[in-house]
Amino acid sequence: MSISQLARSIAESPTLALNEQARLLRERGEAVIHLGAGEPKNKAPINAILSSAAKLNTGDIKYTPTDGIPSLKKAIVRYTEESYDRLVAPENVMVSGGAKQALFNLLFTILNPQDEVIVLAPYWVSYPEMIRMVYAVPVIVTPEDGGFYPRMKEIEQAVSSYTRAIIVNSPNNPSGVVYSKEFIQQIVEFCETKGIYLIMDDIYHKLVFDGKVPASPYSFTRKDTESTHVISINGISKLYGMTGFRIGWVIAPKKIIEVMINVQAQTTSCTSLILQAAAEGALTGLQSVVETLRLTLENNRNVMMQELQAFSGIHTTKPDGTYYCLPDFRAYNKNSVELCHFLLKKALVVTVPGKEFGMEGHLRLSYATTVKDIKQGIERIKWALDPSAPNEIYIGERKLVRDWL
Ligand code: PMP
Repeated sequence: MSISQLARSIAESPTLALNEQARLLRERGEAVIHLGAGEPKNKAPINAILSSAAKLNTGDIKYTPTDGIPSLKKAIVRYTEESYDRLVAPENVMVSGGAKQALFNLLFTILNPQDEVIVLAPYWVSYPEMIRMVYAVPVIVTPEDGGFYPRMKEIEQAVSSYTRAIIVNSPNNPSGVVYSKEFIQQIVEFCETKGIYLIMDDIYHKLVFDGKVPASPYSFTRKDTESTHVISINGISKLYGMTGFRIGWVIAPKKIIEVMINVQAQTTSCTSLILQAAAEGALTGLQSVVETLRLTLENNRNVMMQELQAFSGIHTTKPDGTYYCLPDFRAYNKNSVELCHFLLKKALVVTVPGKEFGMEGHLRLSYATTVKDIKQGIERIKWALDPSAPNEIYIGERKLVRDWL
């Protein structure tokens, strides 16, 4: 069998692999607690369901324009204006199969082999792999102080004549931090002066807590939509908890969108009409669903913080948004992959190794679950890691036995 060198070098998605392991354990009847999930427990908004069901009922489901149906693009234009105070044209929008595909198409469109893209650690797992998939080079910038906030000085030092883009994800997966307004302003100005694309992955931007508002990168650019180097990626997966509908989009200058359309036309043609209708329903329907989700997440974040504060040796930066936090478990084990497997096997708790996000020694814990699961999940992790705890505990009839690492 012949498999290309590049394809062979692409890592398995660790989150999807852990989901699969957890699913298999659950199928065997094990009481698995999932603190690894990148999706909330909510049902899809009613407007999304009605809108897609109405389309499906017509039975007339054909190809759509590659860049998305005009009514969805119109809804995205309105969303962009309301959320970013930036009026873009429908020609600045392309709809893809999730933010993931939007980002991949964008990287394919703007990068040549050996071009460099700066990725800020901790980062979303897929960035480095996607960059490699188009024969470009990810350049990881890790804050020297071990924290989660990037510094301009460190970024500037990593920029070379090959740098084509910087990816910024704030609110950030996996740390949950929101970068400061000053930082966003500095990086917009830096990228525009240098002619480097600033790719803002804004997939969590409305899911912020404690009254915080993430800065809009568009408010700092002095350039118009056609000449700006700011490109934003967005979607419905996180905002409405509609992960399975697979709709995301990119906002970019027309010249980039035109090429992205060619790329998408030759690979996937378009996303499904039924799912585009669902996205349009969500974007034009009642927006209180977003606030309900946000409030649930904020409450869950508070519960998670309370549980972690009572966990000796664990240091956690309080998340300002997203579904996640990234506590430092180095006091227990410096190898996060080993720790994750130990916790799944012994405590039946799914977590995600920080190593995959460029932060070894940390675990990404998701609070996009129930309060009960957060409390029990952390309780079980504490039990598994506490040398003075009893060696065995019962969950219902099931006995958990702890072995030392
Ligand atoms: N960016 C980030 C930071 C994410 O966390 C995710 C999903 N986990 C995506 C992009 C992809 O989202 P989508 O489901 O729209 O492809």
